[in-house]
Amino acid sequence: MSLPAPNTFAGATLDRAGHLRTDPERLAALRADPAARAVVIVREGALVEGEVGTFGADAWDRPTGSVRAVRVPLGPDAQPDAPFLGLEPGGAPLFALDALPGGAPPAGTEPLNLRAAAAILPAEDAGLLGYASGLLHWHRATRFCGKCGAATAAGEGGHVRSCRNGHSHHPRTDPVVIMLVTDGDRVLLGRQAVWPERRYSALAGFVEPGESLEEAVAREVREETGVEVAGVRYVSSQPWPFPASLMLGFEARYAGGQPATLDGELEDVAWFSRDEVAAAAGEGGAGRLLLPPRLAIARRLVDAWIGS
Ligand SMILES: [Zn+2]
Repeated sequence: MSLPAPNTFAGATLDRAGHLRTDPERLAALRADPAARAVVIVREGALVEGEVGTFGADAWDRPTGSVRAVRVPLGPDAQPDAPFLGLEPGGAPLFALDALPGGAPPAGTEPLNLRAAAAILPAEDAGLLGYASGLLHWHRATRFCGKCGAATAAGEGGHVRSCRNGHSHHPRTDPVVIMLVTDGDRVLLGRQAVWPERRYSALAGFVEPGESLEEAVAREVREETGVEVAGVRYVSSQPWPFPASLMLGFEARYAGGQPATLDGELEDVAWFSRDEVAAAAGEGGAGRLLLPPRLAIARRLVDAWIGS
């Protein structure tokens, strides 16, 4: 059996080379290496080159373009604490910059919203830019120590920030459970009022302190819909750098209760038959259901269930 392709934002191929982060001499040499490059993430998005093309009405679905992540020379003027991301497959050191070198995009490049870019980037570049984006966001959000309020400074190649009082902070990832509740040949999907018309998707929510993933799945489904689940089973995960989530995908078996919108997060929740979902997954996707775009792990969960 062949493994399915990684979810979007997984699949970065660089070697993170964590052992180099604590080696200041090697790090300095990597920064000075003429082969050193950097990916760039600014407020408008990630720096890419190629054909951006067009997107369907539905943001990231049915895009026509094809782009790659731009690697700019790191250069001697680069931010001295630009985070070290790792070593590219050819061995070149790679860093992350949160400003355009020289203040403007190099010719033939442009910053593109990361969500849109992910739909038309090779998997390894989407993974790489998601990694860079998450790390740079954490730096911006951790300029002061959460324990004592003093300013923090980056260390370990940009993988730790510490204050003068010895408090250290590490990049964080926030776990979110996303689950497909199934009952034989039907599946429970919900919709939020802000989504495009007819869009329904898997239920989801943040994991809370002191809670296992299985407990989070059961609690979120109960809170949002009044439905009880059993047989919670992990399927796959997706880094979701908006700004720092990790989507943990599950299937759960329906165990009772009448679906209803309970906590105000959902506008509607309903059962859909396997035939109805399969029809929506096909080209055109007519009917009362519009599935999430293929970029989303919710769609991967639905597609796997259709084929199961
Ligand atoms: Zn502190």
